[in-house]
Amino acid sequence: MAQIIDGKAIAAEIRSEVAEETRAFKETYGITPGLSVIIVGDDPASQVYVRNKRKACDNCGFASETYALPASTTQAELEALIDRLNQDETVHGILVQLPLPAHLDEKTVLLRIRPEKDVDAFHPFNVGEIMIGDYRFLPCTPAGCMELIRRSGISVEGKNCVVVGRSTIVGKPMAMLLLQANGTVTICHSRTRDLSGICRTADILVAAVGKRELIRGDMIKPGAVVIDVGINRKEDGTLCGDVAFEEAFPVAGYITPVPGGVGPMTIAMLMKNTLTAAKRSKGI
Ligand code: NDP
Repeated sequence: MAQIIDGKAIAAEIRSEVAEETRAFKETYGITPGLSVIIVGDDPASQVYVRNKRKACDNCGFASETYALPASTTQAELEALIDRLNQDETVHGILVQLPLPAHLDEKTVLLRIRPEKDVDAFHPFNVGEIMIGDYRFLPCTPAGCMELIRRSGISVEGKNCVVVGRSTIVGKPMAMLLLQANGTVTICHSRTRDLSGICRTADILVAAVGKRELIRGDMIKPGAVVIDVGINRKEDGTLCGDVAFEEAFPVAGYITPVPGGVGPMTIAMLMKNTLTAAKRSKGI
């Protein structure tokens, strides 16, 4: 039977560490970390994420501002707002909630954010820093996965790590972080031959695909650490991951549930990045 990695509890621990550090930072420097979140249009899932981010900011003692712009916002209007926030010294982090409406150019928008305020770590400069291994921010979801592994007392060094999924926001940076932690890393994707066989070699298996229960119990090496990033919705509306949890649970050594695994970590790591950005603004 696997040990369940409780992402909710670990995320709460990180948020309270951030709140504690924020209190000390405010006392010493008289500065309140500030996060500005921009949301364009009325995607209901994005609205929930933005509300949760705001709540987390309040709990950490941050100043947070949400800019809810209409779906008709032009590229120039959005970029003008980013420029203004780039110049505002009370704003340490800027986050543009994705996806953007189709008429807006996501890449140009992300490029517009000053890298030192890019708390999502999506700017090509910060992406490059992750490749080099000399970073100020880590992308929140992969960084959250690494914290789950670390805080569960699991060492990555020398382990066979398999990451299923190669997206820019999850799969690729996840593989880099495991590599930097001295894992031996394989990345799988939709053209991978023998996905099952490769997954079975994994001491640490990270699933970031977005396909409901793609990873079955017989694809997991006994005792493996299974980190399930996927968020999928079943017909009855409940959430499930990329891993068939009931099948994986008896085989794995450690496993993250969905919900309550990786999900809560993403916002906790965003809080951590925002505090880092505020500290960096003071050269700390
Ligand atoms: P993307 O759709 O950008 O990437 C999915 C990846 O999975 C691609 O690299 C794709 O391969 C690969 N893939 C698709 N089908 C298969 C298959 N049959 N076998 C092997 N690989 C396959 O997704 P994201 O990385 O953005 O997100 C992945 C999941 O994580 C989603 O469920 C998302 O909701 C969730 N997520 C959760 C977060 C959290 O906070 N917990 C945060 C971000 C994402 P190819 O490149 O060849 O197309």
